[in-house]
Amino acid sequence: MNNDNRYSSHNHHDYDDMYKLKHEHGITDEHGYHKDQHQVHHAGHDHSGDSGHDHHHGNFKELFLKSLPLGIIIMLLSPMYGFELPFQFTFPYSDIVVAILSTILIIYGGRPFYQGAVDEFKQKEPGMMALVSLGLSVSYLYSIYAVIITYVTGEHVMDFFFEFASLLLIMLLGHWIEMKAIGEAGDAQTELAKLVPKDAHVVLEDDSIEIRPVADLQVGDLIRVQAGENVPADGTIERGESRVNEALLTGESKAVKKGPGDKVIGGSTNGEGVLYIKVLETGDKSFISQVQDLISQAQSQPSRAENIAQKVAGWLFYIAVIVALIAFVVWMVIGDIPTAVTFTITTLVIACPHALGLAIPLVTARSTSLGASRGLLVKDRQALEIAQDADVMILDKTGTLTTGEFKVLDVELFNNKYKKEEIIALLAGIEGGSSHPIAQSIISFAEQQDIRPASFDSIDVISGAGVEGKAGGHRYQLISQKAYGRNLDIDIPKGATLSVLVENDDVIGAVALGDELKPTSKELIKVLKKNNIQPIMATGDNEKAAQGAAEDLGIEYRSNQSPQDKYELVKTLKDEGKKVIMVGDGVNDAPSLALADVGIAVGAGTQVALDSADVILTQSDPGDIESFIELAHKTTRKMKQNLFWGAGYNFIAIPLAAGILAPIGITLSPALGAILMSVSTVIVAINAILLNLDPKNNG
Ligand code: AMP
Repeated sequence: MNNDNRYSSHNHHDYDDMYKLKHEHGITDEHGYHKDQHQVHHAGHDHSGDSGHDHHHGNFKELFLKSLPLGIIIMLLSPMYGFELPFQFTFPYSDIVVAILSTILIIYGGRPFYQGAVDEFKQKEPGMMALVSLGLSVSYLYSIYAVIITYVTGEHVMDFFFEFASLLLIMLLGHWIEMKAIGEAGDAQTELAKLVPKDAHVVLEDDSIEIRPVADLQVGDLIRVQAGENVPADGTIERGESRVNEALLTGESKAVKKGPGDKVIGGSTNGEGVLYIKVLETGDKSFISQVQDLISQAQSQPSRAENIAQKVAGWLFYIAVIVALIAFVVWMVIGDIPTAVTFTITTLVIACPHALGLAIPLVTARSTSLGASRGLLVKDRQALEIAQDADVMILDKTGTLTTGEFKVLDVELFNNKYKKEEIIALLAGIEGGSSHPIAQSIISFAEQQDIRPASFDSIDVISGAGVEGKAGGHRYQLISQKAYGRNLDIDIPKGATLSVLVENDDVIGAVALGDELKPTSKELIKVLKKNNIQPIMATGDNEKAAQGAAEDLGIEYRSNQSPQDKYELVKTLKDEGKKVIMVGDGVNDAPSLALADVGIAVGAGTQVALDSADVILTQSDPGDIESFIELAHKTTRKMKQNLFWGAGYNFIAIPLAAGILAPIGITLSPALGAILMSVSTVIVAINAILLNLDPKNNG
């Protein structure tokens, strides 16, 4: 239900408001087709904005395709700016046929534009829709008038049916293209709710288990969570021990070991043990609900984003109306009514340029497909326009800048008696007896290098310290530095976890594990700095892990950030007047993704993050943000160029059409009008196709 907000908040006075309007009026509800494309992973929210957008998308396609034959017949039967083109023909009373067809066309195909215009006027900001409506109304009404006059007086009056039909078709086509380019607006709220199981296993007084819907849980209830299940509510562990994975909720990089007294969050995933949890928060106060609230708060924030196409259309609208009025009055005074009407009408018809209908949609379509080829799914086309002058980029750590996996970063040798392979074999061998996440990482590290684990005779777990075992008559231990009791002088990546391999009492090796930076993260930071975008890392992870990654990257950072903290960070920066891009992957990032001027989600992240973002990195590669920034700059430049070629000349053409130079014999002849219309449309189309990105240097 908030998705319309999401979109309209970014497209404040934009076409989308028109779609919203139509949706509210239920006009398009019968067009249920075309949903299949986008609904795949959003089955079941028919009330959400995304289905709304799909309706509209399907709708413009249908409007265009059904209007096309009608428009073509009209164009064949009516001359262009009074000129008969070689393929055109007329027959007795053909102008009456054209008038009837045009009436059908304006009612059927013109409807969305008029509805959009009404909405723009309600917001007191006439833009594209108002301009198109003006062009359509004037050309249609005047042409009808021309037909009537021609029959009444017998004197031929030039009509604008050709301009009317071609304008309508181009505008519908442009909107269809544009709609295709915009992806779905996901439903973050529903996806968030899905993280929490529907039912909870409540432990009753007599130790029997009752299955109860999560909504009916009370504070103080004792619930049981089996291994591998998601935790149904926020609470404190009463009994049991396990590792709980909160990575996607909080941004903590590894599964956290938890036991009695520790807090768990509803929506996190329980690891290997069974947990008995006392419910602490339910309903509105739960972690997930608070994230939901933040997301809807973010979505209801009005956006300051301005859209250049909308602005240009607004100017043209005002200029056309003012110039036309002046022309009418002046020509009434110095000429006669027919002259005044002709100049006024020509001004208004010229004002709504055909090329404007394609100027932006073609660039958007081209830019979207270029983006896709670089791992970018641009859901909100405005994101590109906004991003090109961004000031700050806030980056989540776990899963965004780093792989989000707990991996072996380094293996050190302390005794040249052993080769590295032998140490790795010993490490993997001894870990065969442990179920610690470190064990899993070490074993797969050895597997990747085709190193067979050494075989151990016996292995024992030393709780909270590591493992020990016997092999080939030696006693080995793999334990924390703390458990070993001595500080070793090892240069390990900051924030990494270190365990030392001890043989009899000597250290023979060490292994550092941690969350690794993605290979392209450093490059991204360089690009940001080059583009004067200040990078800030904001992570839910602890100070040590955060500092490690931030120092490696050489950027400012904030650690221990809750979803609220990240949200506040974005808000503060926005309030300072900065344009903020947020990049993240987790549930904890979702509110700030929604609030930021541009939200970029990592494709491999949670659906909640994807739904809250404007752009998705489909390859989950932060390096693709570089392409995004390039695309943002180039797309915006193209849009400006196209607006110039599609509408800019109008700033000269409108006064000419109004007859400003008529006293010295220069008017905008119909021929020139026709040429301008065709040439500018072609220029705009070709210019859009020429949008390209630099070849990627790192392949
Ligand atoms: P824990 O509290 O179980 O996470 O363990 C504390 C520290 O002991 C870890 O940070 C490791 O340095 C070390 N440790 C525990 N278990 C293992 C293991 N299976 N392999 C290597 N080191 C371990």
